[in-house]
Amino acid sequence: MRKKTLKDFDFKGKRALVRVDFNVPLENGNITDDTRIQAALPTIQYLINEGARVILMSHLGRPKGDNKDQFRMDPVARRLADLLQKEVKKVDDCIGPEVQKAVADLQDGDVLVLENTRFYEEEEKNDPAFAKELASIADIFVSDAFGTVHRAHASTVGVTEYLPSVAGFLLQKELEALGGVMENPEHPFVAIMGGAKVSDKIGVIRNLMNKIDYLLVGGGIANTFIRAKGYETGKSLVEEDKLDLAIELLKEAEEKGVELVLPVDVVVADEFSNDANSKVVPIDQIPEDWESLDSGGPKTIEKYSEIIKNAKTVIWNGPLGVFEFDNFARGTNAIAEAMAESNAITIIGGGDSAAAIKKAGLEDKMTHISTGGGASLMFFEGLPLPGVEALDDQE
Ligand code: ADP
Ligand code: MG
Repeated sequence: MRKKTLKDFDFKGKRALVRVDFNVPLENGNITDDTRIQAALPTIQYLINEGARVILMSHLGRPKGDNKDQFRMDPVARRLADLLQKEVKKVDDCIGPEVQKAVADLQDGDVLVLENTRFYEEEEKNDPAFAKELASIADIFVSDAFGTVHRAHASTVGVTEYLPSVAGFLLQKELEALGGVMENPEHPFVAIMGGAKVSDKIGVIRNLMNKIDYLLVGGGIANTFIRAKGYETGKSLVEEDKLDLAIELLKEAEEKGVELVLPVDVVVADEFSNDANSKVVPIDQIPEDWESLDSGGPKTIEKYSEIIKNAKTVIWNGPLGVFEFDNFARGTNAIAEAMAESNAITIIGGGDSAAAIKKAGLEDKMTHISTGGGASLMFFEGLPLPGVEALDDQE
């Protein structure tokens, strides 16, 4: 069912409560990456232009007990003002009299940032009374925080009980990009799955196997598969209790006609560090005292790149190695480059994968990089996103 969007509502003079994802990384009170604020700008700017009274709410970090001050929204409000080149008001609460007063003072086109919604434990509990208070200051709810729509919280789901609720541009873009490849992919459809653990990705792998033609496996996940096939993996990260599952997945792939591709050669290290001694070995020759930190052997790279080159749709989740160590980012960077060069629709989901693409400077070469790690995974898993389900359906 398609959801209502910004274009389905007349915002002139209306109080629009917008759930954005302003959960930005902070260091000593300074924002180190404002990507998430930038991503919310199209919706905010549109609402300003339409003459709405724009009320923004978000969570920030994990405030617990008395450490609230470091998670206040003030730096975010200041950065937003810089980006919009416009005054942005800020209040020190997200419900209550101070907020009501500030909202009553808003003029058409004004922007107000509420305090961190997670200052109330009712937020994550999706407490109805708290959600009702949040909703009480507005005429309409706009959901634009794709990064949190997989969680049923008061500010993502609870408020929709009390207000007409529509999707903002960022949410719409995410749903169209991810939904497009999941519903109607052009073939060959290739999925690349990496990251540390198979156990994090079982649901995603299972669901994707109904749609894809190739599954390229890398990173820590590959170690578990390599081990399940009977090879020695030395000190590599392997989930011993998932070996049976890996065998099942290999069988499932065969039954479904999916080509599940494992690395042919890997980069092994004599310790878990960027400065470790390293060498490339075929997967049947991982030395006992070494560990595989990168599925980036030249033969693997060649094989994976070739499959990506011939694909029409590629989705990627999970780095192919410990890419945080520059010396073990070969596989990850090679995949990023192959995707950048291919003519396929290229979609990246997952926080670390998105970070790897940025580190490689290839963001502009991808069709879509999801702003929601957990949410995109849940989407690939084929599960309903509570914060999307709760929005009003298009008539
Ligand atoms: P995403 O955030 O994109 O979903 P994950 O969180 O699943 O990705 O996985 C990323 C993590 O997996 C990274 O921190 C990376 O260091 C780790 N990783 C990848 N390959 C290996 C490996 N061979 N051994 C240990 N850790 C690995
Ligand atoms: Mg991650």
